[in-house]
Amino acid sequence: MTSSNPSHSDRECDVAIIGAGPSGAVAAKLLRDNGVSVIILEGSEFPRFSIGESLLPNCLNILEKADLLRPVTEAGFQHKNGATFERGHERRHIDFRENFDEGWGTAFQVQRAEFDKILADGATQSGAEILYGRFVVDAELNKGHCVLTHKGKDGDVATVHSKFVVDASGYGRVLPRLLDLETPSGLANRSSLFTHVKDNINPDHIDRNKILITVHPERKDVWYWLIPFSNGTSSVGVVYSETDEKLDDDQLFERLLGETRMGEILGSSERIRPLNKLNGYSCNVSRLHGSGYVLLGNAAEFLDPVFSSGVTIALKSAELAVPQILKELAGDPTEWDREFAIPLKKGVDVFRVFVNSWYEGGLQDIVLRFPESDSELPLMMVSILSGYAWNDKSTLVNHPKRILRVLEDICV
Ligand SMILES: Cc1cc2nc3c(=O)[nH]c(=O)nc-3n(C[C@H](O)[C@H](O)[C@H](O)COP(=O)(O)OP(=O)(O)OC[C@H]3O[C@@H](n4cnc5c(N)ncnc54)[C@H](O)[C@@H]3O)c2cc1C
Repeated sequence: MTSSNPSHSDRECDVAIIGAGPSGAVAAKLLRDNGVSVIILEGSEFPRFSIGESLLPNCLNILEKADLLRPVTEAGFQHKNGATFERGHERRHIDFRENFDEGWGTAFQVQRAEFDKILADGATQSGAEILYGRFVVDAELNKGHCVLTHKGKDGDVATVHSKFVVDASGYGRVLPRLLDLETPSGLANRSSLFTHVKDNINPDHIDRNKILITVHPERKDVWYWLIPFSNGTSSVGVVYSETDEKLDDDQLFERLLGETRMGEILGSSERIRPLNKLNGYSCNVSRLHGSGYVLLGNAAEFLDPVFSSGVTIALKSAELAVPQILKELAGDPTEWDREFAIPLKKGVDVFRVFVNSWYEGGLQDIVLRFPESDSELPLMMVSILSGYAWNDKSTLVNHPKRILRVLEDICV
């Protein structure tokens, strides 16, 4: 039986946000900076674990704009200046500082429990109210008048009335499910196993300032990440297509690690989190906005972890959505497609081309074998890997498929 909790009942605000992950917290902060009243309904209690620990430099530009970079910088996260790609004996270090764009050329490797709490606390300090432990279970959405129904762990039900709703619920995908907006992603069904370890890594074996991406020597659909943190621990994961092998998750994880140099690098490591598994993580929606709502970050679309683009896209979606939300609240004409959906999709589509080329093998050859050159192309390539997928001045952003095809011919 459910009962109503007076402390949560019939709350009102300008904008209600579902989820206090990166997209929700940054949207809340940008809205608060414009004097908008915000309530965030967050199902979990923070801090809580989340995957998505390797940030790209372009994230820092958006955090800076939201005035959230200082607490992130002061938290002591692992500095990140690039990525190392390896496959068998081939190895390539990519330095994010050598890119085509203006703006940050470095980032951080973050434990998301702490990182997300810092962003959420930043939103709270600016005046946003976060109701933790409140799951949104229903939504009535009309232009200028929306009602979210939310539930606590003990089943008590309450509502938030707002003029607009932002769905930043990530894998919760609250509005896509309630409004039947989910569509297939078009990407193959892949799985991931991951954990945290006390890594005990020999410093000669890796550069802790870089994410290590290792490709299986024989299977281009299998790759691994090693994301060192600043406290001697690391995030370790493998992405693979499901096979019919009769191994349990632990056996499969250890076997796959052992088939590359990762097994050697992590030979003295100790697991400090249970192994997690995510199946079929790619997702999409039929529309990104509608009467009274917008979808941000993973609540809208998630491609693939390979280029660590998830948090960058989530923050970019918040940055692009906020000006339109402000117009909605002011009763001004909005440009949701022209100013939000179309530009957002442009960058996401660049990453989509990169992801497809990666799994077909072309991009694996390109990142490992791209010849040194004085042209702007290597800088443009590093820019995309740094999260700058929205720069109209980059030929690679404007014509990713065509350029990658040319590069593949050079690099195979
Ligand atoms: C295997 C894997 C590895 C990845 N690695 C990276 C990486 O290295 N770098 C990177 O940038 N990205 C990575 N990602 C992607 C990254 O995890 C996401 O893109 C990012 O977290 C999206 O942020 P968000 O704000 O949209 O959602 P989230 O971070 O998922 O936050 C959503 C919030 O909504 C809350 N919520 C959910 N349902 C409800 C509900 N019904 N009511 C109220 N609250 C709710 C959740 O509790 C959560 O706190 C990876 C993804 C996968 C699958």
